[in-house]
Amino acid sequence: PQRGTPLVSVKKATKRFGGLVAVNDVSFDVHAGEIVGLIGPNGAGKSTMFNLLTGTLPLTDGAVRLLDVPTADLSQREIALLGVARTFQHVKLRPRMTLLENVALGAYARGHCGLWRGGLRLNGQEEHSIMAEALRQLERVGLADQAYELAGSLPLGTQRLLEIARALASDPVLVMLDEPAAGLRLLEKQALARLLDTLRSEGVTVLIVEHDMEFVMNLVDRLVVMNFGSKISEGNPAQVRADPEVQAAYLGG
Ligand code: ADP
Ligand code: MG
Repeated sequence: PQRGTPLVSVKKATKRFGGLVAVNDVSFDVHAGEIVGLIGPNGAGKSTMFNLLTGTLPLTDGAVRLLDVPTADLSQREIALLGVARTFQHVKLRPRMTLLENVALGAYARGHCGLWRGGLRLNGQEEHSIMAEALRQLERVGLADQAYELAGSLPLGTQRLLEIARALASDPVLVMLDEPAAGLRLLEKQALARLLDTLRSEGVTVLIVEHDMEFVMNLVDRLVVMNFGSKISEGNPAQVRADPEVQAAYLGG
């Protein structure tokens, strides 16, 4: 997509759980080529917003478009086929499969290979090309030398990096990450920051949900800030940092 076109468009999104309004009338856009941070204190509604965006939860009210397609009637698989990949706050991997196999599943998700998309079995060559792609993604997150270990044997922080590699293996246009830095050690955080920078230079659009404001501040082009379900601020990092409402939300939260 052309730089600057909206890849994510949220219009007046609302999500109620019984009497609780977890997301309240929130609107924002993410444009092609941008890295946008969705931040806010715990309980602000970030993960709920994220689940509305990825089709994991239905909206109570409002609308979401991804790559200009209204997502209301799309399955999660159809959303993936648009070129949207995500990770989860609570990592979802196949613990008894190897790192390489986990990442290869990400490549299948997009239907990287036309035959597989048609429901046919892969031949040796196609299998090989998917494994080569999976290995390339493992290299990017610094896990290639553990390719044949079991995913379940990794520390949680490393599992997060693996989940990102799996998301990237689908060759996404838009990547959505839910708290990717949670549980990472400093070196891993720095590796993640470099990876996000590389993605930006490749023109991949990233929406990153994070409660740790400092981690995203130096990384993103723009921030959307939520508190108690509502959007309270939006702008570049300097603008958001200077916003008294944001300071109050983080001190109060
Ligand atoms: P954040 O990710 O910003 O920490 P969440 O989106 O997880 O916030 O939660 C926002 C609010 O919605 C919280 O009060 C949370 O308890 C509530 N909530 C989230 N998911 C559910 C659910 N499935 N059922 C009921 N309440 C929920
Ligand atoms: Mg959350």
